[in-house]
Amino acid sequence: MTWRATVLTLFPDLFPGPLGASLAGRALSAGIWCLDAVNIRDHASDRHRTVDDAPFGGGAGMVLRPDIIDCAIATVADDRPILCLTPRGTPFTQSLATSLASGPGVILLAGRYEGIDQRVIDARGMQEISIGDYVLSGGELPALVVLDACVRLLPGVMGTADSAIEESYTNNLLEYPHYTRPADWQGRTVPQVLLSGHHAEVAAWRREQAERITRLRRPDLWARHEAATTQAPVASPAPAP
Ligand code: SAH
Repeated sequence: MTWRATVLTLFPDLFPGPLGASLAGRALSAGIWCLDAVNIRDHASDRHRTVDDAPFGGGAGMVLRPDIIDCAIATVADDRPILCLTPRGTPFTQSLATSLASGPGVILLAGRYEGIDQRVIDARGMQEISIGDYVLSGGELPALVVLDACVRLLPGVMGTADSAIEESYTNNLLEYPHYTRPADWQGRTVPQVLLSGHHAEVAAWRREQAERITRLRRPDLWARHEAATTQAPVASPAPAP
């Protein structure tokens, strides 16, 4: 069954954009997934097709109106989860991508200006998702990021099913470094063990590298990895002395 993505946006021309190329683009042509970009402005009711208004309480910028967003959502809402892209959201993760990819698809709401009236986010039970701790000018790039992460996990999109298993974040570990030919490039050689043909030693080296780089670069991820792999139940009460 086709995985269905719908994006509500003021800039539908930005889609499929980069998702029209390479793996995702081929999967789109093959019908593994489909993408529908809905122009929020088509649901405005006045002559000027107004979609925003000044914030109550004052302050800079404009806010997208709840009535217009709700009309746009009403035309596409079904059994799919609705995600609202916002820097105020919970962080987007590989595990959310995996869970979305295993469902029927997703509806994404891309904001602009100062953001979206909170009432329609609450009324429609949207999940508020952020792609990182920085502020972009619109939700379109975040929507493309979320879709890319999901689409590459759909069955038949990636060449080898294995690539997804070993990747960064799958076990709360960053991936080991990669090397290819030439074996000697400008005097820089590749780690000897990778040329040895010993599968177990290669696997052990890769594991060691993944752990080392995770400890060094992402102590937060390393702590989660440790918590998930140690036997001791972290949250249980201490035994009586
Ligand atoms: N005033 C808002 C920022 C608005 S940015 C605030 O301070 O929280 C305009 C739009 O860009 C947002 O509505 C959202 O859809 C999108 N956006 C910006 N940064 C984002 C991020 N890190 N993750 C997801 N969406 C983001």
